[in-house]
Amino acid sequence: MTIPYRPALTGLEPYGAPQLDVPVALNVNENPYAPSPALIADIAKAVSEAAATLNRYPDREFMGLREDLADYLAVESGVRLSPEQVWAANGSNEVMLHLLLAFAGPGRTVMSFSPTYSMYHEYARDTDSTWVAAPRLENFALDLDRIESAFDEHRPAIILLASPNNPTGTALTEQELRTVLEASKGRGPRDAEGADCLVVVDEAYGEFRRDGVPSALKLLADYDNLVVSRTMSKAFGAAGLRLGYFGASTEIVDQVRIVRLPYHLSAITQAAARAALDHAEEQLAQVETIREGRDAMAERLTSLGLDVAPSDANFVMFGTFPDRHRIFTELLDRGVLIREVGPVGWLRVSVGTPEENETFFAALEEVLA
Ligand SMILES: *Cc1c(COP(=O)(O)O)cnc(C)c1O
Repeated sequence: MTIPYRPALTGLEPYGAPQLDVPVALNVNENPYAPSPALIADIAKAVSEAAATLNRYPDREFMGLREDLADYLAVESGVRLSPEQVWAANGSNEVMLHLLLAFAGPGRTVMSFSPTYSMYHEYARDTDSTWVAAPRLENFALDLDRIESAFDEHRPAIILLASPNNPTGTALTEQELRTVLEASKGRGPRDAEGADCLVVVDEAYGEFRRDGVPSALKLLADYDNLVVSRTMSKAFGAAGLRLGYFGASTEIVDQVRIVRLPYHLSAITQAAARAALDHAEEQLAQVETIREGRDAMAERLTSLGLDVAPSDANFVMFGTFPDRHRIFTELLDRGVLIREVGPVGWLRVSVGTPEENETFFAALEEVLA
């Protein structure tokens, strides 16, 4: 007899994009530029100092790192948070799990708008929360005319909004964010009559937003039910570090502290993240190049006669193909790995270095010929 698995998990496969050894990997929206020798040296030094203390548990509240993250956000978005308003974990995936553990769970609903990040559904499943995905409009924007009725029908404890959205690249305007936040007032879970729904804006790709698109961090001062999540995995060029974080009210941070595992951020992670944050300017130096690469990519895909979803991120969703799997496979045969994700017929490609983008287009033009 096998051990009886949780019924909700029976027969499932572990999530994950294929990790293949290919010349050009444009499939998981990483920053294509490796860390500089100066940053590598600083991380090595910080980690070596931390190694000398490894017989002890790390700083459970990691206040030094939270201060550095608050400083970074102030520079990046112009919004100054206190370290007590910042929380971090091993990737924004763990940050999200913390939020669902604290605010969702059995009998409560987590809502999002599809197409969106496929992990959201998994956090809901793993925390035994009810999952609701309302559809986005044809242009992948939120259906704001129906937002109040969606809240009234489902009374979610948490709403998860990726902005820019993955895989579509769609960012929310300030007006759209305010409309959602107003609708969330008093429309939280039914077990807490009159309470607000927690609105989580996932800005994993925030640094790539186009000029004039604000960060939701700006609205934290106006809404105490707002959480804005960020990561060092994408623009910051440190996906291998596993460091995600959020800004919110100190009350929300304190509630999340209840559910984290003890000492969840290792001394090594804290030291390496702080060393990397010291090099923020240099780490983000390529963001402008990547944004330009994205816009050029979108234009070139359009000129090939394809449909392209306008993107505020470091990837572009394009299509539509009667058989997208064929396109994906034939690109892979030519050493270019992209992602088969999104609505039927669409594909997603991450922006690489100019050379990688060229290789992608050379391969795509062959495949389409
Ligand atoms: C990549 C991505 C993340 C980042 O996850 P990490 O755990 O921080 O690496 C979060 N949200 C979305 C929508 C993403 O695409």
